[in-house]
Amino acid sequence: MLTSQDMPLAQKPVDRAAHCRTDAAWLGAARKNPDVLVFLMRAGEPLLEGDVSGAPGFGQGYSGNGMPLVWLGPQAFGLGHQGEVFLGQDTSGLPIFALDMPEGWALEASPIAELGAFAEMRGAAAMLSPLEANLASTARSLFEWHRTHGFCSRCGAQSEVVEAGWKRECPACGAEHFPRTDPVAIMLAHRGDKCLMARQASWPAGFISALAGFVEPGETVEQAAARELEEEAGIKSDPANAEYLFCQPWPFPSSLMVGILIPADSEEISVEQDELEAAYWITREEARQMLAGAHPRFYCPPKMAIAHHILKAWAERD
Ligand SMILES: [Zn+2]
Repeated sequence: MLTSQDMPLAQKPVDRAAHCRTDAAWLGAARKNPDVLVFLMRAGEPLLEGDVSGAPGFGQGYSGNGMPLVWLGPQAFGLGHQGEVFLGQDTSGLPIFALDMPEGWALEASPIAELGAFAEMRGAAAMLSPLEANLASTARSLFEWHRTHGFCSRCGAQSEVVEAGWKRECPACGAEHFPRTDPVAIMLAHRGDKCLMARQASWPAGFISALAGFVEPGETVEQAAARELEEEAGIKSDPANAEYLFCQPWPFPSSLMVGILIPADSEEISVEQDELEAAYWITREEARQMLAGAHPRFYCPPKMAIAHHILKAWAERD
């Protein structure tokens, strides 16, 4: 049975070595270590080896071991980054950093122009090894948080990056700010031999997925799942019957997708048109066809996304 440890983007995490984040002398030496492992991000996109022009888009397959990150040494710190984060240590103890390059940074004019290209994150995540996908996802969420949280939310002063990229502090009022992780309930409602899937108008034709919504203050994940189901599709359910499956960090920009199966207590669909274009009851046999890429009308999210694994977990039950 799958667990959260099997989810794409969360597999094989490095030792985060959090105790090193506050050790300025250790970090200084780590940056100069000739074997330090450094990769670059620019506007949320990782630098990958080789020509990424033919890279698959989201939903076009998952190799898991395709194009690797471009790994640089200590010289990377001289390329003009605007931010950095210490991500941890590899199995031999080598420090790993990600650098955030300014949006206008010209790779072509840099000393590493020939080494690779920046790749859109959804496509990149489908090509990277599990370890590299996890590292790039983590860096993407952190850099996006820094980009949008430069000022103290308590007093408005400009805050400063501390703890190797894992915290911001306000020099004016002393407030501490930590990176966001926003819980999202992503749920598959089921009734008898059918499950509920839906699509948004902006999605490619034929693409359907599980319903999802942000957990609100004062709410459990199960309660959020039941509320969203009723709001978006008019389906009633009891959060007491919800079943937690597994969760997945989703760096677009900082969600934690919590996978839920929940029995539906009603069947009539009433779609909230602002959120969804349509919702459908899908039979178990159809779900299996979709997972095999053989359904005549619909296709489901790729293996990179938790929705794929929620659908699979349900479809494989008798
Ligand atoms: Zn402040």
